[in-house]
Amino acid sequence: MPILVNTYGPKIGACNICGVHGPLTDDHTPPKGCYRPTQVEIRHLTFLLSGVENPPRGRRSQNGVKYRTLCAQCNTDFLGLRYDPSFIEFVNEAARHLRSPLSLPETIVIRGRPQAIVRSLLGHMSAQGVDRYLKGPLTEPLRDYFLDETKPLPADIKVFYWAYPHRVHVMFRDAAYAHLPSGKNCMIWLLKFFPLAFLLAWDEPVGLNHTIHSFEPWRDVAIDHVADLPLNLYGVPPLFWPEAPTRESILMYGQEAIHVAG
Ligand SMILES: [Zn+2]
Repeated sequence: MPILVNTYGPKIGACNICGVHGPLTDDHTPPKGCYRPTQVEIRHLTFLLSGVENPPRGRRSQNGVKYRTLCAQCNTDFLGLRYDPSFIEFVNEAARHLRSPLSLPETIVIRGRPQAIVRSLLGHMSAQGVDRYLKGPLTEPLRDYFLDETKPLPADIKVFYWAYPHRVHVMFRDAAYAHLPSGKNCMIWLLKFFPLAFLLAWDEPVGLNHTIHSFEPWRDVAIDHVADLPLNLYGVPPLFWPEAPTRESILMYGQEAIHVAG
């Protein structure tokens, strides 16, 4: 169910990433330049990878989501110039593999710069929600990591990704993932759009029943380090995982949870 969110806050305020007070600029998620799939491509892929013949119909979201929550320096100098090109390349390379096939290999490998990809992801996820600086978990370690390219990813943040051959764009931050059998909770942020899904988790989530990939092996590498990032194309998690309840897990959403299309 779509939830209305306030994506335009004040023109002047605290930047959601660095906290500096000043004029705010629009952040686009996914960043401009990421490939936008057609309905035909999505239907073909959904059938190929998950056996679902009639995927949910969704309006084609031309521009993604826009929040006016970042200062010009974070938005332009860091995201636009330094980090987004690696993120866009990663997304578009995954899309290129997924778009062409009559058959797909079980796993593909995408060369990319994990530290820049993760910083771009963190920046765009931080941009969600008006006036959110210091409202989420561990804002300051995230800010320091984002602004200083020499820092490793903060120790308690795990970043996961998986192939997401669907049109429905989902994003939220500050939700709690509760694993019912163990009674353990952890905070998660989620961003899903064709062709990839990304999950940030504070602490190790318990009961992840799907094979997904982690940026863990590259937590300490240099910003320009290029890695072979695997992407499993078969047995991908279901469309609405992890946000839909299962027998073992439920998610408690923050007010900013949104489904953009679908
Ligand atoms: Zn900023």
